[in-house]
Amino acid sequence: MCKRPTDLGWALDPDAQVRERLDYVFDSFRRHGVVRGVVRDLKKQGLELPTRVTAQDAYGSLIWKAPTLSAVIRTLHNPAYAGAYVYGRSEYSSERRSVRTGKASAHIRALAQWPVNISGHHPGYISWEEFVKNQEQLRQNWSHEGNGGVPREGRALLQGIVYCGVCGRKMSVQDRAVKENRSPSYICGRAYQDGDEKVCQSMTSRPVDAAVVEAFLATVSPGGLGVAMRVLDQVEQDLAAQRRQRELQLEQAGYEARLAQRQYDAVDPANRLVASELERRWNQKLERVAPLERVYAQAERAAEWNLTAEERAAITELSQDLPALWSADTTTNQERKQLLRMAIESVQLDGMRLAGQIEIQIHWRSGAVTSQIVKRTGPGEGSLKTPPEAVSRIHEMAPRRSYAEIAASLNRTGLRSAFGRDFTKQHVGYICRRDGLTRRKPRSVAKPKDRPDASILPEVE
Ligand SMILES: [Zn+2]
Repeated sequence: MCKRPTDLGWALDPDAQVRERLDYVFDSFRRHGVVRGVVRDLKKQGLELPTRVTAQDAYGSLIWKAPTLSAVIRTLHNPAYAGAYVYGRSEYSSERRSVRTGKASAHIRALAQWPVNISGHHPGYISWEEFVKNQEQLRQNWSHEGNGGVPREGRALLQGIVYCGVCGRKMSVQDRAVKENRSPSYICGRAYQDGDEKVCQSMTSRPVDAAVVEAFLATVSPGGLGVAMRVLDQVEQDLAAQRRQRELQLEQAGYEARLAQRQYDAVDPANRLVASELERRWNQKLERVAPLERVYAQAERAAEWNLTAEERAAITELSQDLPALWSADTTTNQERKQLLRMAIESVQLDGMRLAGQIEIQIHWRSGAVTSQIVKRTGPGEGSLKTPPEAVSRIHEMAPRRSYAEIAASLNRTGLRSAFGRDFTKQHVGYICRRDGLTRRKPRSVAKPKDRPDASILPEVE
């Protein structure tokens, strides 16, 4: 800590207790590395967090509040505590508006692109280097702390609901898809839990997923989808309530900043002392807005797995046709997992009883149990592939053309999908997502991947 006690400058609070408590928060984050750990620590020690009242009549008076996640996050995100003067960390693009509020969405600039960033502007509680390190740490933690319980992206669609039919333990997903160009596997938890040398059983997810998806699409009626939509509605309402809280906080901070500006504007410039004090306060208000904007945008991003209004409209339109919904461009793998979970309680797999085959038992939420048997796939065997020529044409066209245009172009040249059928925009969209192609920013991922891609994508005509 390079802070000098005599140097009560711009960001260090004049109250020694406030300074000590903020020191403690930064130190606690050093020790725990996660925001939840800091809040737990403060609560365990019975420590509250200082807040300066910013309402006009009681301006500057100090109150102490019970520690919360958001208060600790704000503190850690605030570059003023690292001695920096920073502004413009969020930019607003009119291109992308929130479908809920119609407001321009905040877009967080990378730290290196902040338009105003004067480090060493005033004494801080932590160094600039530590601040930068903390931001990275917070960014990494966000996925763990903020997204609890949300199904992860990935192609093993039964993750979290798949059980071993031999010993009854929960099976986990071993995802080797990226490195080894192979489908993920379901693997019995016994191997991990008991440290057995021999794995109880494991199997490639692909044929299992394909069979379960087929059963799901065949079983769940359009009426059943209404239930799914209602569940999504509830999730959206909860998120909307949380969002409102963040908006209110942001509005309040913006109001205070404008108020401080008006007070600054109103003072006679000849009165230098008052003017500089008001300028200091105005800057403080602005400082408070920026981290709030950041937290707000971050929370918005974390909530993105949820359906947007456009996606919802698309789904409503498609709701008569679950297979189309399943493979729609707007449906992510996370949503596919959610849809499966709404109909399916658990799935049991037994790859031991019959050689070369996997018995699948689907336990539906309705209480029904259905079973079927699929063939195990050996390495490379039975893996349907989109013709490499079609894949490279998709790569060429992806930056400039819509999925539908690409599909039409492929069909005109006589190319056919892995199943020997016409291409659809869903199929093109699937390959674009698989290969990380985007329409906005052309990337040079030109090498077509030779990966089976047909298993979880039912063909929809
Ligand atoms: Zn087992």
